Amino acid sequence: MDRKRIIVIGSGFGGLGAACRLAAKGHDVTLYEKRDKLGGRAYQYDINGFKFDGGPTVMTVPDFFDEIYTEAGRKREDYFKLTPLDPFYRIFNDEGRAFNYWHGTDETIEEIRKFNPADVDGYRKYVRLTEEVFRSFNGLTDRPFLQLTDMLKIMPDIIRLQAFLGTYTHVARYIKDDFLRRVFSFHPLLVGGNPFDTPSVYTLVAQFEKQWGVHYAIGGTGAAVAGLGKLFTDLGGKIYLDSEITEIVTNGRQAVGVRLPDGTVDTADVIISNGDVAHTYRYLIPEQYRRKYTNRKIDRMAYSMSLVVIYFGTKRRYLDSKFHHHNIILNKRYKGLLSDIFAARELPEDFSLYLHMPTITDESIAPAGTESFYVLAPVPHLDSGTDWKATAKPYRDRVMRYLEDNYLPGLGGEIIAEHMIDPLHFRDTLNSYKGAAFSVRPSLMQLAWFRPHNRSEEFDNLYFVGAGTHPGAGVPAVLASGKIAAELIDPEPVRQGARELKPVTA
Ligand SMILES: Cc1cc2nc3c(=O)[nH]c(=O)nc-3n(C[C@H](O)[C@H](O)[C@H](O)COP(=O)(O)OP(=O)(O)OC[C@H]3O[C@@H](n4cnc5c(N)ncnc54)[C@H](O)[C@@H]3O)c2cc1C
Repeated sequence: MDRKRIIVIGSGFGGLGAACRLAAKGHDVTLYEKRDKLGGRAYQYDINGFKFDGGPTVMTVPDFFDEIYTEAGRKREDYFKLTPLDPFYRIFNDEGRAFNYWHGTDETIEEIRKFNPADVDGYRKYVRLTEEVFRSFNGLTDRPFLQLTDMLKIMPDIIRLQAFLGTYTHVARYIKDDFLRRVFSFHPLLVGGNPFDTPSVYTLVAQFEKQWGVHYAIGGTGAAVAGLGKLFTDLGGKIYLDSEITEIVTNGRQAVGVRLPDGTVDTADVIISNGDVAHTYRYLIPEQYRRKYTNRKIDRMAYSMSLVVIYFGTKRRYLDSKFHHHNIILNKRYKGLLSDIFAARELPEDFSLYLHMPTITDESIAPAGTESFYVLAPVPHLDSGTDWKATAKPYRDRVMRYLEDNYLPGLGGEIIAEHMIDPLHFRDTLNSYKGAAFSVRPSLMQLAWFRPHNRSEEFDNLYFVGAGTHPGAGVPAVLASGKIAAELIDPEPVRQGARELKPVTA
């Protein structure tokens, strides 16, 4: 295949993965990133000696990373290292009682016995079913779904396995204890969906963890971002930071170039947008050139919830706390809280939390003798009308007071580094439509072919990678989208040794 000039907009995992794969195939690839560092949602903040991962912390399917390096004739371990975590999660009920969610089925069954021994048989049956879902739909994640017929082919399995049922409903058929139902149905939240209406085909996410484990990148997820950035430049790719693309210039059904912040146009044979799909169509391509993705359609698509995330470092260790590396604290009000959040109604007073405590695994990411955390609360996206400029501080105070009163004594006096993001960050810094944290929401009507396609339905040489396109949000999924796009652009396998690889020192 001819060497193409390819532009990638955005350096999330989807963009970096696609850029590396195409550079490894010998194409001339340039990546433009709006922010001052690579990573997108996986941006790593450096604050007072703490390295806080901005977003993804649960790393599954190392094979998806490894494959990118193998295609480039390299080894992932030479760029960054992953270490497995077990238990995967420690999940607390509203009384602070902990459930350890282990990799092993036997260990998990022992935990179930502590809460409701009567659910052990149901859990075994549930595991068998999720394995069947995995066997039937695993291949769905790296196929493009450009034709309706692709979708029709998977419908019989969706019906046979009742994979259209909401995840919670599906789990509830096998497990009776309400807390355990929550424990085994929370995974849609990791990809921006409400467990009560996200189809149970998304139990794939849990099954990915079971198959490949939950991992941590040494040095934080930022090390994985840096590793892909280095691979890309090693392969001859060019990166421009602080470079927001303001327009995709089109001519008929062709995307011909991108407008740079200085107003000039950089032309290319192929353009890949890793920016949010909705934002890309809505704000980078004037409406008169779009037939399907009109402003009205974009507005009517369903979007994921947003998030508040508070990153904080303490001057003491908290190894005596109840926390493990990944923690989930479930609120007493659960279904009602989730419907308030997903209906984008007024910001609820109460919250469920995810708490990250990476220094329990890796002390290298914080000053000696300190602890690093982030706490995350799902909140409605910006259609709720919440005035975040006025609300952020009181919301932060409520969350931190809750942690201090229930889990981290004396927290207020221990903090020596802090940063916070809210839905405005997702809209204004990450260009995410409505401030959604996970872009287009996962649902039956926004699954596979029904999602915005990896090859634009509007322009022949415009491609999409990242959370808003197929297969969806989450690191493995966006890496898969990068693979799909790269293979659509250049289906030929990499010819090892076809080119000399030389590092670029820009
Ligand atoms: C707080 C949080 C925690 C998460 N935790 C996990 C987890 O533990 N495990 C997991 O698997 N997933 C997790 N996720 C989801 C996962 O992080 C995302 O789905 C994934 O990282 C998104 O990658 P992406 O390829 O869509 O790109 P993004 O990360 O969205 O990056 C897109 C990039 O494009 C840039 N951009 C946008 N517009 C332009 C433009 N016009 N010009 C130039 N650049 C532009 C943006 O600045 C950004 O850098 C989490 C998400 C969040 C927010």
